[in-house]
Amino acid sequence: MAKISWTLCATCGVENDTGEQVCAICDDERQWVPAGGQRWSTLADRASDGCRIEITEREPGCWALHADPKVDIGQTALLVRTEAGNLLWDVPGFIDDDAVSRVRELGGVAAVLASHPHMYGCQLEWARAFGAPVYVAEADRSWVRRWGEPGEIVTWSAPFDVLPGIRALQPGGHFPGSTVAVWEAGAEGRGVLLSGDTCGAVPDQGWVTFMRSYPNSIPLSAAVVTRVAGTIAELDFGRLYDNFGRQVPSDARAAVLRSAERYAAWVRGDYDHLT
Ligand SMILES: [Zn+2]
Ligand SMILES: [Zn+2]
Repeated sequence: MAKISWTLCATCGVENDTGEQVCAICDDERQWVPAGGQRWSTLADRASDGCRIEITEREPGCWALHADPKVDIGQTALLVRTEAGNLLWDVPGFIDDDAVSRVRELGGVAAVLASHPHMYGCQLEWARAFGAPVYVAEADRSWVRRWGEPGEIVTWSAPFDVLPGIRALQPGGHFPGSTVAVWEAGAEGRGVLLSGDTCGAVPDQGWVTFMRSYPNSIPLSAAVVTRVAGTIAELDFGRLYDNFGRQVPSDARAAVLRSAERYAAWVRGDYDHLT
């Protein structure tokens, strides 16, 4: 029987061939190691648990991919169509032949773009299935737990068009290389911001938040949130999809700017008299 040379962290789903005893991504203040200790998994384990990939259309030219039953932190990956092939924005927590053939019917994958280390998942497996490169922020390269062969994972820093009509850049914040991408043709041409965890939609309509850690509720400073929003303000978009498939359906750019102002005011202490 062939030796399996890599594994998946059962908590965050990131592929790992480092041999480390505890997943470095979970053993960080932004995440957590389960109370019972580190657990590892494999794609075969997940397949035997009945895992499969659900694909649902979010809007014309954009599909959400997530594993069912839920694995990892329940993230939603997005497949976005361009004239030069599809972008896979982050990856779902599983892959099998059925998922690959259904994604192939939608045009396959021309590039995989990671929003940040929590979402690296089994990105090398998805990229290999389609012969596509994985793009990872250079600033976050120390978090990659499985590099594959030279050239399979490409690091980048300066803003670039990952595919025609999809611009990627790194506002940072949640991680130094936290990435967003604007899909210009999305939302009927108003533009869609793929925000990852750089900013996250909240239940109150028309607002988002910014966090160093979402599960452990660690904030960012006023200066950083203002800087992140300043970078995003240079982009043109009407809708936002975050890491969990939540959205700000319209006027999302204004929502990001007003939310950053409110957030910065609170963490700066402007409203301490209300507490
Ligand atoms: Zn982990
Ligand atoms: Zn995250």
